[in-house]
Amino acid sequence: MNYEFPITKTTNPKQKPDPKGLRFGTEFTDHMFVMDYNPEDGWNNGRIVPYGPIELDPAAVVLHYGQEMFEGLKAYKTPEGRVQLFRPYMNAQRTNNTNDRLCIPTIDEELFVAAIKALVKLDQDWIPEGEGTALYIRPFIFADEPFLGVRRSTTYKFMIILSPVGPYFESGLAPTKMYVEDVYVRAVKGGTGEAKCGGNYGASLKAQEIAHEKGYEQILWLDGIEKKYIEEIGAANAFFVIGDEVVTSELNGSILPGITRNSIIALCKKKGIKVSERKISIDELEEAYRAGQLKEMFASGTAAIVSPVGELLYKGERMIINDNQIGPVAQEMYDTIYGIQTGKIEDFMDWTVAVE
Ligand SMILES: *Cc1c(COP(=O)(O)O)cnc(C)c1O
Repeated sequence: MNYEFPITKTTNPKQKPDPKGLRFGTEFTDHMFVMDYNPEDGWNNGRIVPYGPIELDPAAVVLHYGQEMFEGLKAYKTPEGRVQLFRPYMNAQRTNNTNDRLCIPTIDEELFVAAIKALVKLDQDWIPEGEGTALYIRPFIFADEPFLGVRRSTTYKFMIILSPVGPYFESGLAPTKMYVEDVYVRAVKGGTGEAKCGGNYGASLKAQEIAHEKGYEQILWLDGIEKKYIEEIGAANAFFVIGDEVVTSELNGSILPGITRNSIIALCKKKGIKVSERKISIDELEEAYRAGQLKEMFASGTAAIVSPVGELLYKGERMIINDNQIGPVAQEMYDTIYGIQTGKIEDFMDWTVAVE
């Protein structure tokens, strides 16, 4: 099916930011995508309009009961000027898994991707050029029925906004310090940990602030029951290099299935690097560290792609990883994925989708 969306162009285009000073998620482009849902018409009236505030009834379900989800992916411009997305159908699938968990109506995957393409095409001059930059794409859905009662909303809005971004961490690829959280938990099996929804983040802010006060940028979450097994990191998945094995926690129902995570596993397999998805406990990490076998640790996610971890604090014990330097596996994964995304490396995994 060929989707077309009416476009209302802005009469007041904004000044584009200097790509050198770009941070993450502070600037937005000239347009946004909006689509409505009601039980009679399903998803309908997809349109592109000037970026700006939206009107919402104060009784909208999302404001009271948090029926909301979001996604994140990026668009890049290749040296030849081709605009491309990285694995957008994975985001479409994950959207529908999240929607199912939150009783939000699913969206046709082709429609989801077509909406992203149409908006990125219109605002493609906003794709920044420069190392570590990209156009971040934020699709999201929220319940907008005015109704104070706990049941699924009958109406929704699907929107997409775009943000030219620089490196997620101001430190770029410099290693970050991570706090192993042993009081608060992010998610438990049976909850919404594997859904990409705002509620998970609201619940994580407290622990994040405490970690910040102690001088740590990020949190490593442990499982919600035994507080023993590694789950994930803030908004990213966790990878370790133990001896010659690359390890990440297996998807257990409370971990968000990252697309970057999936890509790193696939790349390791392709390159003949030993990689496992399995349970990994904090005790195993400590033992590996003491035995000199914890070679690398890094976070994976769309925002930073790969972000090395140089220090881990668990119950007062500090572990300094790889001399606080980025390690070879993290560097290779970053270079390969960013290279494919930006078209500087041939897409031998068939991951990019052109915006035409
Ligand atoms: C989005 C997200 C990730 C990373 O997923 P990617 O698809 O790689 O960006 C990891 N954990 C959480 C909690 C997330 O919200």
